[in-house]
Amino acid sequence: MSFKADLHMHTTCSDGIYSPYELVKLCKQSGLTTIAITDHDSMDAFPDAIQYGKEFGVEVIPGVELSAMVEDKDVHILGYFLDYTNQRLQEYLEFFRIERIKRAERIVAKLNTINVPITFDAVMERAGKGSVGRPHIASALVDKGFIRSYHEAFEKFIGNGGPAFEKKFHLSPEEAIKLISSSGGLSFLAHPGRYTPDEAVNRLIKSGMDGIEVIHPSHTPAHTAHYRGIVGEYYLLESGGSDFHGGKKNDDDVLGSYYIEDEKVA
Ligand code: AMP
Ligand code: FE
Ligand code: FE
Ligand code: ZN
Repeated sequence: MSFKADLHMHTTCSDGIYSPYELVKLCKQSGLTTIAITDHDSMDAFPDAIQYGKEFGVEVIPGVELSAMVEDKDVHILGYFLDYTNQRLQEYLEFFRIERIKRAERIVAKLNTINVPITFDAVMERAGKGSVGRPHIASALVDKGFIRSYHEAFEKFIGNGGPAFEKKFHLSPEEAIKLISSSGGLSFLAHPGRYTPDEAVNRLIKSGMDGIEVIHPSHTPAHTAHYRGIVGEYYLLESGGSDFHGGKKNDDDVLGSYYIEDEKVA
């Protein structure tokens, strides 16, 4: 049987629309053999997701996606094979989630001052038990008819630097890498092609990052070749995935389309 690993995806534990059970089932149907569930600031999908993987015959790697910033750019760090029972790690994740709630409140307040009468409750209803993020705010704005599309929310209001943008608490990328390694995990720079300058990539390599997400829907073939080159040059590991959240345009084609074929990570 061929090996097909998608190492980046989200569930209802953060901003994905499928529960861990539904996601594992969909992955099986898409022909994936190995997946990493990488919710933002949450590992609440585990250990259940691993059990679902056993039921469906999919290897499920415990992962997480942490948020860092370099200057004003978001830098996301993926962690794989973490010990999700590590108390210090869980305390950090809980702290990040509480900070996300406070930041959602600040964004709602800003929206209200610019005559967008969305309520905090509507946002939290969208987030459910998952760690709340801007995607929930965007979806709530669409639900309530304040805008026509999810992307419009980012363009008009909540994108970085937008009129209702608020930073959330974030670690430095070095701290994120340290938190992951001290929890027994491997750290990877997520989707660097989106907004990570090469100087920042080099800084992270120096601070002990294990690998780079080379394959990602936002990457052009030139990005993939570029980051694969860096991985080879510095003896790093390569990862790749779909960053599947479900429910977005063309999402049905995404699962099973972005993957790595040999056992570079798993
Ligand atoms: P947060 O972690 O709450 O800051 O939300 C970040 C998430 O919002 C990212 O992981 C993306 O899924 C989404 N996002 C950020 N910027 C945009 C954008 N300009 N358009 C659409 N989605 C975006
Ligand atoms: Fe997300
Ligand atoms: Fe990300
Ligand atoms: Zn992601």
